[in-house]
Amino acid sequence: MTQVLVIGGGPAGLTAAKSLVDSGAEVVLVEKSDSLGGMARNWTCKGLVECRNCGVCFAVDQAEGILREPSAEILLLSEVASAHRTEDGFSFKIKTSPRYVTDDCIGCGKCVAVCPVEGKAIFPPTGTGRPQQYWIDRIKCLHFKKRKCNACAEVCPTKAIDYDDRAKSISRKVQSVVLATGIDAIEACETNRFGCGRYANVISSVDAEKILNEKGRLLRPSDGRPPKKIAVVQCVGSRSVEFGVEYCSKFCCKYATKICQLLLDIDAEINLDFYFMDLRTLYEPQDEFKLWAKAKKTVRLVRSMPADIYEKDDSKNLLVRVAGETDSDISETEYDLVILSVGMRPSGASSELARSLGVGTDEMGFAMVSKEIEASGVYVCGAVTQPMDIEEAAVRAVATVSRMNKKKEAGP
Ligand SMILES: Cc1cc2nc3c(=O)[nH]c(=O)nc-3n(C[C@H](O)[C@H](O)[C@H](O)COP(=O)(O)OP(=O)(O)OC[C@H]3O[C@@H](n4cnc5c(N)ncnc54)[C@H](O)[C@@H]3O)c2cc1C
Ligand code: SF4
Ligand code: SF4
Ligand code: SF4
Repeated sequence: MTQVLVIGGGPAGLTAAKSLVDSGAEVVLVEKSDSLGGMARNWTCKGLVECRNCGVCFAVDQAEGILREPSAEILLLSEVASAHRTEDGFSFKIKTSPRYVTDDCIGCGKCVAVCPVEGKAIFPPTGTGRPQQYWIDRIKCLHFKKRKCNACAEVCPTKAIDYDDRAKSISRKVQSVVLATGIDAIEACETNRFGCGRYANVISSVDAEKILNEKGRLLRPSDGRPPKKIAVVQCVGSRSVEFGVEYCSKFCCKYATKICQLLLDIDAEINLDFYFMDLRTLYEPQDEFKLWAKAKKTVRLVRSMPADIYEKDDSKNLLVRVAGETDSDISETEYDLVILSVGMRPSGASSELARSLGVGTDEMGFAMVSKEIEASGVYVCGAVTQPMDIEEAAVRAVATVSRMNKKKEAGP
C-alpha cells in the first residue's frame, strides 16, 4: 500500500487526503493548528435563506469525512521537524505539541465555564474546525503554575483532561508528499490603510466573517449597535504596488458579494454601498449580483476605489471620500460600518520545509507546480500555488491525486 504525507489540513489538503484514501493509499495528515478545515473554519455560511454555494460547509464535511477514515492518521498541533529523501521516498520527523485534552472530549464546554483564568486557559478548536476537541494553553493554565487548579478535570464528564500529555516526536516513512499549506489573509491593518486598526468601525472582511460565523450578525465594534449603513470596499491589499500585493486575489469579489447578500438576508433594512474596481465573481455570472443589487433598493454598486476613509466625530461613524472624474468632483458619504475586503498571500511556499522538498516559488511567492517536482514524489496543491477559492482548491487537489495515481500505474 502506498503511504503519503499530506501537509496542511485545509480544503486542499483534506480533499487530497480523502482522494488518496479512496484510491487505496494510507495517509498521514499533518496540521499545525488545533483542528482541520483550514482558513474556511473562520468563514461564515452565506446561505441563510438558501444555499449560495459559498463552499464553506465543504471544509467541515471533508474534515468530518477524513476523521472517520481508518487509513488516515491525523496529527494536529503538529509540524514537520525534518524531511529526508530515502531510496524509495521520504523519511519525516514530525513534532506534535501536547493538547492536554484527549479525544474523549465531547465538546460540551463545561471546562471553559469553570476555568478561573481571565480570558480562559482551555479553548474549543478554531471556528467550525474539526474535531470539536478542546485544548489547554499550558502557558496560561494554573495547573502548570505553582497555584494548582484541577477545575476542568473535576467537571469534565468524560475524563478527557490529561495534564500528563507530552510533546511527541513521530517518524514516518512515505513514498510521496503533498504540500497544501494554503494562504494567509492580507492584514488590512498592515498598511494602516483606510484607518484599519485606528477607527473602531473599520473592520476587515476576516473580522466580518469571524463575527458572522460566531454570532450570526454584525454589530458595530464601538457600541454594539447593529449597523444600518455599511460600505464594503474591494481590493484592499490586492492589486496595489503600494499597499499589499500586486496581483488580483481572485476570490474576494466572490465571497464579498455573498457577504453582502447575507447581510441583507439578516436585515433587509440595511443600506449597503459596494465599492469595487472590477467585479470578478469567478465561475459565477457577474450579472447575478448586479441584478440582485438592482432589485434591492438599498444596495448601490459604486465603481470606484475610495481615496480616503476617516472618522467623522464622537459618533464613530465613517466618512468615505471618493474622487470623481475631475479633481473638484469629490464626494463624501457617511457610514456606520466599513468592511475592507482583503485578499491573500501564500503560506509556507518559501518555507524551509518547502525548500527542503525542492519546491520553488514564482515571482509572486506562490509555490510552483512542475512535472520535475512531481517526478520526485513531491506534489503541491491548493491556494499555496495561486489564489483560489475552496471549490477550486478541492478540484485541483483531486486532479493532483489523479496525476499521482497515473504516475504510480505507469511505474518507475
Ligand atoms: C476573508 C476571506 C473569506 C473567504 N471566504 C471564502 C468563501 O466564502 N468561499 C470560498 O470558496 N473561499 C473563501 N475564501 C478563500 C478560502 O479560504 C481559500 O480558498 C481556502 O481556504 C484555500 O484552501 P487551502 O487548503 O489551499 O488553504 P488553507 O485553507 O489556508 O489551509 C491550509 C492549512 O495548512 C495548514 N498549514 C500551513 N502551514 C503548515 C505547516 N507548515 N505544517 C502543517 N500545517 C500547515 C494551515 O494551518 C491550514 O489549516 C476566503 C478567504 C478569505 C481571506
Ligand atoms: S486546570 Fe484550571 S486553569 Fe487550567 S485549564 Fe483547567 S480550569 Fe483552567
Ligand atoms: S468538559 Fe471535557 S468533554 Fe466537555 S469540552 Fe471540556 S474537555 Fe471536552
Ligand atoms: S477578486 Fe475582486 S476584490 Fe479581489 S483583488 Fe480581484 S478584483 Fe479585487
